[in-house]
Amino acid sequence: MKTSTIVFSFLGILALTVGLPQTYEEQGSKVFRVLNAASVENGLEKLQHLQVNENFDFWTKPSVKVATDIFVQPERIGEFEKYMKDNGFTYSVMIEDVGKLILQERALNRQGPDMDWDNYQRYETIFNFVGQSALSHSDIASVEEIGKTTENRTMIVIKIGKPASTNRTKPAIFMDGGIHAREWISPALTTYFINQLVNNYTSYDDMLSEVDIYILPVANPDGYEFTHGTTSGARMWRKNRRPDPQCAGVDLNRNFGYEWGGPGTSPNKCSEIYKGTAAFSEPESTNIKNFIERKAAEGVNWRAYFAMHSYAQILEMLVWLPNPVHGTRYEVGSVTELLSPGAGGSDDWAKGSGIFKYSQTVEVRDTGEHGFILPPTQIKDCALETWEAIRAIAKFLAEE
Ligand SMILES: [Zn+2]
Repeated sequence: MKTSTIVFSFLGILALTVGLPQTYEEQGSKVFRVLNAASVENGLEKLQHLQVNENFDFWTKPSVKVATDIFVQPERIGEFEKYMKDNGFTYSVMIEDVGKLILQERALNRQGPDMDWDNYQRYETIFNFVGQSALSHSDIASVEEIGKTTENRTMIVIKIGKPASTNRTKPAIFMDGGIHAREWISPALTTYFINQLVNNYTSYDDMLSEVDIYILPVANPDGYEFTHGTTSGARMWRKNRRPDPQCAGVDLNRNFGYEWGGPGTSPNKCSEIYKGTAAFSEPESTNIKNFIERKAAEGVNWRAYFAMHSYAQILEMLVWLPNPVHGTRYEVGSVTELLSPGAGGSDDWAKGSGIFKYSQTVEVRDTGEHGFILPPTQIKDCALETWEAIRAIAKFLAEE
């Protein structure tokens, strides 16, 4: 009796501590929006300096064509504002208190063992959902384990498609989600697409007869799981979880082998855009590369690669949708054209390696109001509008 009472109280205290932190994560951190980089002499270089040399966390890539959002912790706000003033930048405050947004998100987000798209789910739930989806629809779907992560989690790709209706080799699409840990909307979208294609497959009969779709729902499971933890600053984690006594993590989207180490990457371990010690130094990026190359050797007809990211609402479009769902506008143009390049990205490698004809980085909601902390209530709308774009592109590939 006594023992169980003590255990109960202990759990009660634990729940209270987790639910109502005394000082919340990232309290007082702000996101600033730099507005006039185009009119500042060497504006792009000056922003890049802030990112690469001063290790500020850029939520959007440095750009003179669109605004640039920069996350600043309370202790660095003075330093940041001085740099802005000294160099003639003007800026506004995009997010007043990142910690407050994180708390709001946490209060809204209900995670359970069952998959849904009203909440951001844990990796185990996603993993089980994908496996179960394939098991119960083995005529159109199969799951392959593509390797282990740094922390020994299993990475999985689901293939969805019907046997080809003609003799031609079906075009194949590959999609990676969640390569940046904090972009929670990305795995929510990849799993939404999987659910549509597998559990609602009668609606996509034509599509599944014409193309094969391979989806890697979470490319960075270690990082993703870390962002769900309670370590201070965890929610804003971007990289993988490569251990290091000084600064952990490699930006997996700077670790691919095309123009590795080029502009928009950093050799500094503590940078959010740290490229790693060599191209494909990380197990996660290597697993993706090996899987794609092996499938190509087996005769898979890779055509289009999608990398799902947030945020910027920039979709490098093959097909322009005249009536975007929900009126959400995606800017037409490539991410590297509108923003500055990020060498070593999965998207650039996909095309640059010559394996894929098309490569798309899809940056979804929002435009900065919540940044990476998009309320879970927006998942379904975001998924629906993005799904329409993906379907249109799949149709284009089928007809090409
Ligand atoms: Zn990203």
